[in-house]
Amino acid sequence: KRACREYPGQVLVDLAVMKRNMEHLVDVCGGAHSGTAVMGVVKADAYGHGLIPSALAALAGGATWLGTAQPREALLLRKAGIGPDRCHILTWLYNGTAAPFEDLIASDIDISVGSLAGIEALAAAARKLGKTARVHVKVDTGFGRNGFTPEAFDDALDLLGRFKAEGAIEIIGQWSHLAVADMPKQPVFVSSTDRQIANFEEFSLRMHEAGLSPQIRHLANTAATLTRPAIHYDLTRPGIGLYGYEPDPSMGTPSKYALTPAMSLQAQLATVKHLEAGHGISYGRTYLTEQETSAAVMPLGYADGIHRSASGSDVEGSLGQEHLGGPIRVMTTAGPRLVRVSGRVCMDQCVLDLHGDADQLGVHEGDTVLLFGPGRGEEQCEPTADDWARAAGTICYEIFTCLRSRIPRLYL
Ligand code: PLP
Repeated sequence: KRACREYPGQVLVDLAVMKRNMEHLVDVCGGAHSGTAVMGVVKADAYGHGLIPSALAALAGGATWLGTAQPREALLLRKAGIGPDRCHILTWLYNGTAAPFEDLIASDIDISVGSLAGIEALAAAARKLGKTARVHVKVDTGFGRNGFTPEAFDDALDLLGRFKAEGAIEIIGQWSHLAVADMPKQPVFVSSTDRQIANFEEFSLRMHEAGLSPQIRHLANTAATLTRPAIHYDLTRPGIGLYGYEPDPSMGTPSKYALTPAMSLQAQLATVKHLEAGHGISYGRTYLTEQETSAAVMPLGYADGIHRSASGSDVEGSLGQEHLGGPIRVMTTAGPRLVRVSGRVCMDQCVLDLHGDADQLGVHEGDTVLLFGPGRGEEQCEPTADDWARAAGTICYEIFTCLRSRIPRLYL
């Protein structure tokens, strides 16, 4: 309540929903006693939902692993009391010459390696600590980002073999990431994922032949967790599914996969006023009121992470083309009404043409409007982060992660 008074917008996160999403993902992987464990991917502040509360919700829902890109976030999880008795944590993105390897090893955090320099540095830290580092070998099966390519793998195996024999490292995992698993309906992408899987198996064979078989293998993100049970292997790594979205909206409705968005974003209107017909709205006059109307100022802008590309325009050519703004639900005395950002999104605010008289509609300064939520019911016209992503020309992942920390997160 205090946060509501202090800031004109709030991110609401329903942790019970997040827990249910994880329960569903665990079920999809065969349940708690199947051979497949589930990792809650909580990188980037849990996709903007808040690292620690989201991690706890994922664990409550049955995840037994947590994953972060940055080591700093992995260490924060341990510092918050999520100990090795509770879950494994994997971290994978660092500069090999500057990573806090000693802290990670001392905190029993599993570490991905994808470069020779990384292996050397990690082994040196383990040796210094007198402890064995838990390693996951990242292989590039076709993503072209992190991991050893097939050509570089012999050298990696040599080094891994040497440090394993020395006791500096233990090979826990072999893993990789899929590039197009979120487009399961398109044959070209299906075959590309099939190729990545075949490459993954090829890497496994080479590890086996070198006497370096991993204890576990993992490849599946949310998309593959939902659509490709054959590659669940020993562990799946859903991220966006935990937060209640499909990786690509064309995969199906949330209800198809029994996932529910956990985050809502709301704001309180700063002002509401009357505008004449033909009045320009916001920078660049890219929007002109069609008729006499009321305009409301919504006090969140691009400094809060509201994409400027979700600006609305009705003037041809002014934003490249006619552009639908980000959708916002306004509650009126007659019920919910969907309006759109009218004109350019500004740094701290944007304007909504209410297409009617505010007094008659029953819209007032201070009223709470909803930018997006779980998308309940057509008649409620509740936008989702996918609707914003469409308006902004991006994906829902970016909608969440761009929301700045200055917007308070309230947990339900
Ligand atoms: N695994 C890795 C290595 C990732 O980088 C990510 C996120 O991008 C995930 C798993 C989770 O992906 P998604 O959110 O699509 O489930």
